[in-house]
Amino acid sequence: MNVIMKFGGTSVADAEAMNRVISIVRHQIAANPNARLPVVVVSAMSKVTDRLIETGRLAGIGDADGAARTMNDLLERHLGVARSLVGGDALAALTARLTEDFSAETAAVRKHAAKGEVTPRAHDALVAMGELASSRMVAAAFAAQGVPAVWVDARRVLVTDAEHTAAGPDMDATCVRARAELGARVAAGQVPITAGFIGATSSGVTTTLGRGGSDYSAAIFGACLDVDEIQIWTDVDGMLTADPRVVAEARLVPQLSFAEASELAYFGAKVLHPSTILPAVAKNIPVRILNSRRPEVAGTIITAEGRTGGPALTALACKRGVTVVDITSTRMLMAHGFLRRLFEVFERFKTSVDVVTTSEVSVSVTVDNPRRLDDVVSNLRNFAEVSREPDMAIICAVGENLRADPALFARAVTALANIPLRLVSQAASRRNITFVLRNADVPEAMNRLHAALF
Ligand code: ADP
Ligand code: ASP
Ligand code: MG
Repeated sequence: MNVIMKFGGTSVADAEAMNRVISIVRHQIAANPNARLPVVVVSAMSKVTDRLIETGRLAGIGDADGAARTMNDLLERHLGVARSLVGGDALAALTARLTEDFSAETAAVRKHAAKGEVTPRAHDALVAMGELASSRMVAAAFAAQGVPAVWVDARRVLVTDAEHTAAGPDMDATCVRARAELGARVAAGQVPITAGFIGATSSGVTTTLGRGGSDYSAAIFGACLDVDEIQIWTDVDGMLTADPRVVAEARLVPQLSFAEASELAYFGAKVLHPSTILPAVAKNIPVRILNSRRPEVAGTIITAEGRTGGPALTALACKRGVTVVDITSTRMLMAHGFLRRLFEVFERFKTSVDVVTTSEVSVSVTVDNPRRLDDVVSNLRNFAEVSREPDMAIICAVGENLRADPALFARAVTALANIPLRLVSQAASRRNITFVLRNADVPEAMNRLHAALF
């Protein structure tokens, strides 16, 4: 079976974790002697992206020394891990490379601090450091252990638009590059090791896909290379019935459909980046989620058909920190054209809405990214009364079989009795039920729903 294997931050958190990656990849190769060699995609080491974002924040407020100090700490952490992975000339070369890359970026960060501004373009160049460093280290570790691995600069493979911090792939251009940069290496008997999350515009400017985007990179490359399976190796056994940090009893979901997985990822199941499924659907390639600490567990397999039989509900997801916006028509009733005008405002400010409910004179929507919400609200006020409520959350119960059992909806609502529900909606697909409530009520609500429905 031809596969692409993506390892997340905790799966490359230190030398021990990286060694586990090597043994998992070796096992894959040994177990599939007739398959093409796998392509390996890695994230930044655990917490590194957060620290790089913090560095950018410090530069943005003019704290050049603070920003330089975090860069130095990060370099030291990487060098420490490098020393446990490789030795001799390989270590000298890796140390020189990492030191040079971090020094160059630290100089850039000092310049940003002097201006007190980090543009989105500069931000992408900075956060890309995490994936560049980890992928170089993993490639060196593979080579040190005798696996014929080769580091491939992901910025030469993933071609994106210039929408910095949330770039979108140019699939045609990327596939041409993926075949040349990755496929050709595999054909030559090498295991390409590359970075997730990062890419570059057609003119070579570094971009990133958005937080958690390494999963998406793996799916994009996997689709371009026509693999048989896209493997997402992480720190849990697979897709669970709820986020295990919120619901301790969450259980493994062995199988689910592309549509269910997209919905869960979109509404907060962080184990999968929401866009991961798109390239997989386009080429009908199964996505498997696996645990790099327990590689013997079969994990979750996501396919077009999903599962047959089993419980009506697949899993719960939650997304905190959303804002509810209530928009009331200033006429007594909603005039026709009101909805169009309203959504045109959201469109103009590139603000997407997740949940929508309407009543006779008002519309309520939830917004996940409040970056341009002030502009949205002031424009809506030209023709409507508007109020907003921050610190809200979306809870979504997803299941392909939900439509088969109308009693489930009642059970869910009953389970939430006396928790104030701000919006409730059941999608037309009837694949999900969505509740909007206060952030503070999420743990209680998730646990009650989980107990009642699973
Ligand atoms: P990685 O660094 O491997 O990409 P992430 O932290 O991005 O890992 O995603 C894995 C995490 O997603 C898990 O540790 C878990 O806390 C969280 N998570 C949220 N919802 C779910 C869910 N339904 N099933 C499994 N994990 C979930
Ligand atoms: N390192 C990036 C992040 O933390 C991308 C990823 O992990 O998928 O968001
Ligand atoms: Mg992730």
